[in-house]
Amino acid sequence: VSEAVFAIDIGGTQLRAAIIGRDGQIIAKQASRTHAQGGREAILVQITDLCRGLRAAHHSQTIIACGIACPGPLDSGTGVVLNAPNFRDFTDVPLRDEIAKRLSLPTRLENDGIAAAIGEWKHGAGLGSDHLVFLTISTGIGGGVIADGRVLRGRRGMAAHIGHLITDPASGLRCPCGAIGCFEALACGPALERRLRANKPLCAAIGKPEPDARDLFRMARAGDPEAVALVDQEADYLALGITSALHAYSPERVLIGGGVGSNLPQMLDRMRAGIARTAMPHFRDVPVMPAALGDNAGLVGAAALAFDPTI
Ligand SMILES: [Zn+2]
Repeated sequence: VSEAVFAIDIGGTQLRAAIIGRDGQIIAKQASRTHAQGGREAILVQITDLCRGLRAAHHSQTIIACGIACPGPLDSGTGVVLNAPNFRDFTDVPLRDEIAKRLSLPTRLENDGIAAAIGEWKHGAGLGSDHLVFLTISTGIGGGVIADGRVLRGRRGMAAHIGHLITDPASGLRCPCGAIGCFEALACGPALERRLRANKPLCAAIGKPEPDARDLFRMARAGDPEAVALVDQEADYLALGITSALHAYSPERVLIGGGVGSNLPQMLDRMRAGIARTAMPHFRDVPVMPAALGDNAGLVGAAALAFDPTI
């Protein structure tokens, strides 16, 4: 009989649960569509149902703890989700203690960006690094920071909201957080798709009224000049946020994940040029690299937290 933990990743669209071993290996995984509009009890029930289903199917594993990755801001010290704007009735939810009670397991709660950073640090592209910035570029922009060999949490565990560094207030773009000109408001997937859909000739060339980021990157790879221009602009926006993170945290490497982030190789040259224009000279040689764990980074990080109370 081997020891394992439950890991939960509460995403805006998918709620995923897994049984994960001490080496970060995913033993079993289940997902269902997040009951985002169902209120807090619906999400609590959804988590416990997924875990009970996994436990029933995997008797040979002894589950010793549970780790949860959730959008924030949340207080990882008290285990309370302060506000998750994409979920109805999800303000001041004592998620850690509710799940601990329902599963009868010691439970940790962490911001999803920080949890993913921990996953990459312990089992992914950040292995062996003491100074790390992780960014996920998708529906929003999440972040997590490892500094001096420790997770940077700050007051109430709310550090590393890199997506809300304000990089261009003159853009007039309002962020879901309410501010104007956040890095997220400029560079997240929906912002990129808005710029794409406003370009009617490009939409016509793609042959869809509402093309998505994947269509855009494909067109840019095929050499369409309008698509290349939009991808270059995205790389420039990303360079602004990454430069700010380099100056604030001085990482040894920057890891990029998420749906838009998975196109990093296509944006890297332009992004490096942008960083070289805006970063101070001694910050320009920091490698910007693809994250390694893909969608599983948050789950693997939540599991690492469940195994090791010192993280
Ligand atoms: Zn913001």
